[in-house]
Parts: sequence; structure tokens; C-alpha cells
Amino acid sequence: MPSPGAKTPPELPELMIAGPGELHEQDLEAFSHQVIAHYGDHWVALHTRVLEALGALMGASRRPYLLPGTGTTCLDAALFNLFEAGQRVVVANTGFFGIRLMEMAAAHNLEVIEVPVEVGEPISPDRVADAAANADGVLTVHVETATGVRHPIEDIARAAAENGAVYVVDGISSVGGEIVEVDATGIQALVTGPQKGLEAPPGVGIIALGPGGPERVEARSKRPESWYLDLKTWDWYRAHWGAWHPHPVTMPTNIVVALASSLDRISSYGIESWVAARADLAKRCREGLRDLGLPPVPAAGAEANLVVAAWADEPASIQEHLLSCGVMISGGLTPTTGKVIRVGLMGRTATHAMVDRLLDGVAAAVGKRA
Ligand SMILES: *Cc1c(COP(=O)(O)O)cnc(C)c1O
Repeated sequence: MPSPGAKTPPELPELMIAGPGELHEQDLEAFSHQVIAHYGDHWVALHTRVLEALGALMGASRRPYLLPGTGTTCLDAALFNLFEAGQRVVVANTGFFGIRLMEMAAAHNLEVIEVPVEVGEPISPDRVADAAANADGVLTVHVETATGVRHPIEDIARAAAENGAVYVVDGISSVGGEIVEVDATGIQALVTGPQKGLEAPPGVGIIALGPGGPERVEARSKRPESWYLDLKTWDWYRAHWGAWHPHPVTMPTNIVVALASSLDRISSYGIESWVAARADLAKRCREGLRDLGLPPVPAAGAEANLVVAAWADEPASIQEHLLSCGVMISGGLTPTTGKVIRVGLMGRTATHAMVDRLLDGVAAAVGKRA
């Protein structure tokens, strides 16, 4: 078990924010090694191993792509490659990151059909189905980080497929903390990042195409208006430079090395038991907060594993008290701004001991010290 506080700069709090998570010791060690070449045999083997592990974790048989940038870089790539200006997309307004998807779709000159979602409730697949009847695509988050709600991507995928719409999922706050099956679910593009459920440093984005995804990219009337984010640029390097330099740009090798180390850990547990442990920890945190008078934001059954959001009368004073105890958590984001605390359960601090320490701090802050 990681020792709380290890290698966190003494003047900085330990992170239990809604992302990023802190690195495990072993991954930090890997991360802090010398820069290596982003080509050649050693690198190609490492890069391939990471992509294969990511594909396995996401239930994607097609090899995912790893792009320097962040998760959002790959959301942009998904929109650039799977849609064309003027197409219509259904977007679920789940909160901050659902709204972000609407903004991004508008920036890509897509016509947005908004599906409203009540705070704490999962997206209604029926409403998506109705809206998708006249649409080319559906965009939703899997876990909305602003509310800690996990949305029913399997049912939404079915609703999209029945209407012939391409389904793109923002899984940045879910992969590694939830079971995600790109192929079996029928998701055309799933996007994630390393710094949340994958417990690695930020700095790359990950995109996996599912059934029909590459065909949709092929069927475009013209190439996307971005060279870097055109997945066919990345395909070209895989096909022609694959044996020594399978991507068009310099890779952040230290991040990928740390990610490889983290993926080894997750794979060694097996994703089912890893996610089950995350769910247990989230439950302990959620129930503990509820007992202190902070009820969960998500409806029963829709609670996410990596982010616990709970209603609070004075979230800022709880955050402040916890900071004085050396622990940093998050406040709300639209639509929960000023009304909730959010606790991230990812990385080195995602332990029972840290959750208990957090609950003690919250108890003291709300005047319910046992
Ligand atoms: C954190 C987060 C993002 C932003 O990810 P970046 O890696 O910072 O681009 C997007 N969507 C969701 C659901 C997130 O939780």
C-alpha cells in the first residue's frame, strides 16, 4: 500500500480532486527516468504494448491511437474524423462536460440537438432515440465529472444504432474506473486520457474506434481540416513507418513509460476486479459522506466510481478545512457550482485509509466529529 504523503512536495496538499490523480510510487519512478528516443526497436515495442493494453482495457479490437495533447485533443479528433460540417448531432446536456461537447460540436459547424438531463439522473436513452431519428451522430459523456453520474452508454449506443447515428463517447472520467466495451457496446469512437482512471500523468489523449468507426472515416467526402488530428495521418505513419516510428510526431516518452507501468498494474489485477475495488471504495466514500449529512448527487444506481459528488451546504468551508489537513478535493462545476463537494478516487490516494482521513476532515468541518 502506498504511504500517504510520499513524494508529494511538503508545501502541497495530497490530491483527491476530480482529476488528475497522483502517481503511484512505481509509476513515478518510471516517469522520472531519462528521456528515451521516440523511435527504434525499444520504443516501438513499448508503444505497441501500451496500445495493446489500452485496447484490451477498452474492449476495442482495433488498435487505439495515442496523441500528445490531452483527452480533449482526441475529442476534437473524433469530431474531425467522424463528422462533416453541417451534420446533425444529438448531445446530452449532462453538465459541464456535456456542455463542452455541445460547444465543441458547434465549433466543428455541426448542428446540435440538445437532450436535457436532470441533475443526478442518467441520460434517458428514449429521449436520445427520439432526437437521433433525424441525426447523424450522438455525443455523450460516460461519466459526467461535474455530477459524478455514470450514464447508460450501452442503451444509448443501441438508440444511436437503431437510428443509424454514429456514437462518440467521452470516457475521460470512466476508463480504468468503469467497465467499457467499445466493440461489444457498438461505440464508434471512445476517447479517454491517462490522468484519471488510468492513473498516469496528463499529456496525451487516447481514441479507440469501434465497429463502423474506420468505415465512417473512410466515407468522408474530404479530409478533415486538420493535418495533426486527421487519423489517416496517423494511419499513414503506422502503415509506412510502423517498424521504427509509428506516429507522425515526437511522443512524450516519459508519460508513455509511466502509463505502461500503470497499465501493467491494472492488467495484473484484471479489469473486473480493479473496477470492483474502485466501486467499493466509491461506496465507502459516498456512504460516509451521506452519514455526515452530505447526500450523493447521482440517483441510486447511477453513481460513478472515480468521482463522488455530494450535496453540501458550505462546500467551500469543507474544502478549506480539508486543505488545512493537507488534502485537496474539488468543488462543483455547472450545474453543481457552489452546491457540492467532489472527491476523486484515482491514483495513489485512492485508498481506504485516505477516504477515512477525508471523512474525518469532513466530519470536523461540518461539526460532526465523532
Ligand atoms: C477531465 C475531463 C475532460 C478534460 O480532459 P483533458 O484531458 O483535460 O482534456 C473531459 N471530459 C471529461 C468527462 C473529463 O472528466
